[in-house]
Amino acid sequence: MHEMSLAESVVEILQEEARRQAFARVRTVWLEVGALSHCDPEALAFCFDVVTRGSLAEGARLEILRTPGQGWCLACSRPVVVARRGDPCDSCGSYQIQVTGGDAMRIQELEVD
Ligand SMILES: [Zn+2]
Repeated sequence: MHEMSLAESVVEILQEEARRQAFARVRTVWLEVGALSHCDPEALAFCFDVVTRGSLAEGARLEILRTPGQGWCLACSRPVVVARRGDPCDSCGSYQIQVTGGDAMRIQELEVD
């Protein structure tokens, strides 16, 4: 499952941060998930619970923040909001849109002990 490897990479980041910032437990993770990232937040939350068992983030709360997709319309030369990959520009109807944001996953904030 795609979400399983995403959850595993989140735990890896948490372990790295724990070494850098010297904390022992993670209580809450605020995770930004782009609308275009092909990631199902419910599946991710489930996988997060599974992969954090026995880790520093066991029992941690995962708060998923959906961020909108962003693109650049080549026809109007302006930024546009992209609800879904493959959607046309909402002002000119062109399909020539380059995705510029909202296609990734990022830890925004951590609550730790
Ligand atoms: Zn356009």
